[in-house]
Amino acid sequence: MLEQSNELAAWDRDHFFHPSTHMGAHARGEMPNRIVAGGEGVTIWDNTGKKSIDAFAGLYCVNVGYGRQKISDAIAEQAKNLAYYHAYVGHGTEASIRLSKMIIDRAPKGMSRVYYGLSGSDANETNIKLIWYYNNVLGRPEKKKIISRWRGYHGSGIMTGSLTGLAGFHNAFDLPRAPVLHTEAPYYYRREDRSLSEEQFSQYCADQLEKLILAQGPETIAAFIGEPVLGTGGIVPPPKGYWGKIQAVLKKYDILLVADEVVTGFGRLGSMFGSDHYGIEPDLITIAKGLTSAYAPLSGVIVGEKMWKGLVQGSDKLGPIGHGWTYSAHPICVAAGVANLELIDKMGLVKNAGETGAYFRAELAKAVADHKNVGDVRGDGMLAAVEFVEDKDDRKFFDPAKKIGPQVSAALLERGVIGRAMPQGDILGFAPPLCLTRAEADVIVAKTAEAVKAVLG
Ligand code: PMP
Repeated sequence: MLEQSNELAAWDRDHFFHPSTHMGAHARGEMPNRIVAGGEGVTIWDNTGKKSIDAFAGLYCVNVGYGRQKISDAIAEQAKNLAYYHAYVGHGTEASIRLSKMIIDRAPKGMSRVYYGLSGSDANETNIKLIWYYNNVLGRPEKKKIISRWRGYHGSGIMTGSLTGLAGFHNAFDLPRAPVLHTEAPYYYRREDRSLSEEQFSQYCADQLEKLILAQGPETIAAFIGEPVLGTGGIVPPPKGYWGKIQAVLKKYDILLVADEVVTGFGRLGSMFGSDHYGIEPDLITIAKGLTSAYAPLSGVIVGEKMWKGLVQGSDKLGPIGHGWTYSAHPICVAAGVANLELIDKMGLVKNAGETGAYFRAELAKAVADHKNVGDVRGDGMLAAVEFVEDKDDRKFFDPAKKIGPQVSAALLERGVIGRAMPQGDILGFAPPLCLTRAEADVIVAKTAEAVKAVLG
């Protein structure tokens, strides 16, 4: 077993190009290569048998928890009956039709149709193409620029990497390069003017957006894209009143709104969608992750009524839309989606995300907020973050070379809990499966307090 494990580790170092990984450190064996072997509920184990509570649900996606047989049975059944057929030219399977109906039944009001892909990135590529197509059909070809936020995350493609507002995803890739503009992040803790209340800071963000629109010319701005809660950019919920004020600006200049609900869709905030949670009325919604709890890759764009009408006009003029993926509505993936959404309902996970999430965040704050290097403990629903600072008064970051975030996350892993060192700033993120119990939340909190103490004293 040990020999086999060493051999696998060597093949891993020599042949597997891992995403979001320090290539040299991995190839040289300077970092642990963890070979994950199984999971049950909120727990995963590696091929040495070491167990961890996964308090990040993979990459905030395994919402129902690991090892749910209902979903693996649905996948196996679909694979046996019909592993693949395409969805072009009006084709589908029973599961692709059922899932579309289930999504629209659960979506915020005014939503009409679902277009499927395989990743959050490709779904956001679809969004932008639909927006450009729509404005061409409406005869306003100059209205094409897309505004996103600094610290937003919308994917790793060329367009979606450009929409993403994090330096690490731009630098050395010549991004952003598409017609993309970035505006203020709704990051209340890091606002420049600390005298501002949450409402005032929200107004400041809306004013910054309006200034950018006016400077560029409203006739050139097609859409605004944002996550209801900033995710990869640091798990930052919006300040009070933010979405209402942003939407007022967008309406004034006839700018479409895309809610990127890849993380927040299907229950993570204690509501089925983040849009309902914050009163957002989007034209398009991006979904992925929680749609199948990552049991199979599946994403989608939910298209609102207004845009759908424009798209139909487009095909009446231009013929079938020239946009399709081989694996759109892949039968195995949509079968996983149907079983997953049924399980979310049956297990009452949306409610649990709200209730146990609130308990978890309150306990986390009690355990670490008073620490001299904890600047902020924040979150919403089953999303939480702890932000570390060198100095609590001036909120100064640690020198990035000290890698405080990664150190705390490593100390936590040693104690059997997975939390994520977020990629920009010393922020430890949590996004547990939505089935988390209070007892499991207690373990995560206790181990986090120990890890913080171990690294920062
Ligand atoms: N949008 C958001 C809000 C995300 O969090 C992510 C992934 N973390 C994506 C888009 C991209 O999804 P994927 O990695 O599946 O391409």
